Amino acid sequence: MNYSIRESKRTKYMHLRVNLNGNVEVVIPVGFNRSYIPDFVEKNHPWIAKTMLRLEKKFSLIASDEPICKPDEIFITAFHEHWRIDYIEQRRVNIKVQQKESQQLWLLGDVNDDEQCIVAIKRWLISYAKEKLTKHVQTISEQTQLNFNKISIRNQKTRWGSCSNKKNINLNFKLMLLPFDLMNYVIIHELCHTIHLNHSAKFWKLVALFEPDYKILDKQLKQSARYIPDWV
Ligand SMILES: [Zn+2]
Repeated sequence: MNYSIRESKRTKYMHLRVNLNGNVEVVIPVGFNRSYIPDFVEKNHPWIAKTMLRLEKKFSLIASDEPICKPDEIFITAFHEHWRIDYIEQRRVNIKVQQKESQQLWLLGDVNDDEQCIVAIKRWLISYAKEKLTKHVQTISEQTQLNFNKISIRNQKTRWGSCSNKKNINLNFKLMLLPFDLMNYVIIHELCHTIHLNHSAKFWKLVALFEPDYKILDKQLKQSARYIPDWV
């Protein structure tokens, strides 16, 4: 079994942690005799296996064999929007997305092809995120007096956002699918990087000025995968 070892000043006893990625970590007090570790891990193997299974079930980390189905609705949680999707069979090469009034999407084309439908919906979501997230960043930028240069919305696997030394901000379109507080925190975080391009004490002090709960939100953000539906 693969595991990593971490020394912690705050722990008195050797213990195990399984994090959300399924990585096993042995936490030991500073100066602890490491020769005890392999036996300890071996003895706790049943607990590790059980915990991993529980996490996998909860966060569906195991790639399921079931094909992912196209959605009937999209919750754009951050902006309190609930979009309904109607699929309309039509003889055409590509799937066309039409944005209707009152939060309704029409997909026209070979709508039995779930994979193609999902590609088309994601393309629409990214363009919609460009509109909504850009507007929100501008609002926060005005409120905080933190100026940025350019903003781009991307489909990123692991990052929620980033900021370059030219004050260009990148945001993940999936931010719209998180609760408002979390989306808002990521934007504040990236705007603060326009002043401090690091995670220094000065940077966090600036973040705290605009979001006093940043520590809790930062923690929640690490467990936010559960807000993103499988098909995204
Ligand atoms: Zn950062």
